[in-house]
Amino acid sequence: MTSPTVPPARLGAVRQVRPATEGWKQKKDDEGRPLLQFASPKRGKPPVHLADLTPEERVAKAKELGLPGFRARQLETHYFTHFTDDAARMTDLPAESRDELVAGLLPPLLTEVRRLATDRGDTIKFLWKLHDGALVESVLMRYPGRITLCVSSQAGCGMNCPFCATGQAGLTRNMSAAEIVAQVVAANAAIVNGELGGKKRDDHSAEKVSNIVFMGMGEPLANYARVMHAVRVMTDKKHGMGMSARGITVSTVGLVPAIRKLAAEDVPVTFALSLHAPDDQLRDELIPVNSRWKVDEALDAARAYFDATGRRVSIEYALIKDMNDHAWRADLLAEKLNARGKGWVHVNPIPLNPTPGSIWTASDVPVQNEFVRRLNEAGIPTTLRDTRGKEIDGACGQLVATEEDEVVAAGVTPAS
Ligand code: SF4
Repeated sequence: MTSPTVPPARLGAVRQVRPATEGWKQKKDDEGRPLLQFASPKRGKPPVHLADLTPEERVAKAKELGLPGFRARQLETHYFTHFTDDAARMTDLPAESRDELVAGLLPPLLTEVRRLATDRGDTIKFLWKLHDGALVESVLMRYPGRITLCVSSQAGCGMNCPFCATGQAGLTRNMSAAEIVAQVVAANAAIVNGELGGKKRDDHSAEKVSNIVFMGMGEPLANYARVMHAVRVMTDKKHGMGMSARGITVSTVGLVPAIRKLAAEDVPVTFALSLHAPDDQLRDELIPVNSRWKVDEALDAARAYFDATGRRVSIEYALIKDMNDHAWRADLLAEKLNARGKGWVHVNPIPLNPTPGSIWTASDVPVQNEFVRRLNEAGIPTTLRDTRGKEIDGACGQLVATEEDEVVAAGVTPAS
């Protein structure tokens, strides 16, 4: 099938596959458009945790428990630097009040249901159960000189993208800031315990998570306040994890007002826009939120992010065979990016896995190469992204609990 509104000069004899769900039905709103859920359904809140509080609130909480405020500072060190919430290991705290302090400020938030690792052990996918039984995942990946963790920001997702396993069930709830941070603490604990393989002999980099990408379950900017609080904890040098903001990538499918808000924050994270199509006709179907904010609005907001922060923006573009991988789309993308200036953006095309029989399958390699070549030739720095995590279903939009996971999770008592 060919698209009727593609400019004829650009069209040639290209095949146009249109996005459609496979094996499930998208939920629709009253007007028949894919349902978008921005508000988190009401569910019992997770217990309040040290990482949900500001440093002042932590001190107040310690005092509430009848202890001097500096005990809160000691707990910060145990949790954010030694990655432990085990009271028995906190020998610098008075034995008689240790358990109470830990129970009050470091309630357990994640219970490990299962983990999958690649053969070399350099990629681990964790499946976590939250206090209310909701399941989320994170993926830990070792690369030369860095360790990246892909975190979830919501249980489920309300953005309803037709290709996305996470989006199928809709939004279960927003994760708390501490639940987001807990994924990083747990990953660091696993690294410290030597559970992440693949370290090269000549790799002398520090053994903890150096990069975080918000590309797990959920749309991070739909859970804005909690995600930003989590980012502040991750980057706080005195009272948090002391990570570099540059090493943290916040991605979005294009919630324009939230992108503009992010640009005004004082934490210059790396910003990624999951665009996947440069034309509204295709993007309306591929990314339902495009019905709210169009391609040009999302690109204007992305450019504004660069203007405010000086941080080069990433455009994520999953290359899907005969759907969005056409040469004319590479040209149109380059045109739209160049129209907003030079040097502010780079493009990361992401090759999908080949999935025989599915419309959601990998572009042919020469097509991928041509797509990249055209963008580079137009002056847009473009590099195909590593998709290692896919080996264990760790790519964005692929994180979802399988039925088997649900069965295993049913036998695991959530942390409480
Ligand atoms: S692709 Fe991302 S934004 Fe879209 S439904 Fe999946 S998790 Fe949500």
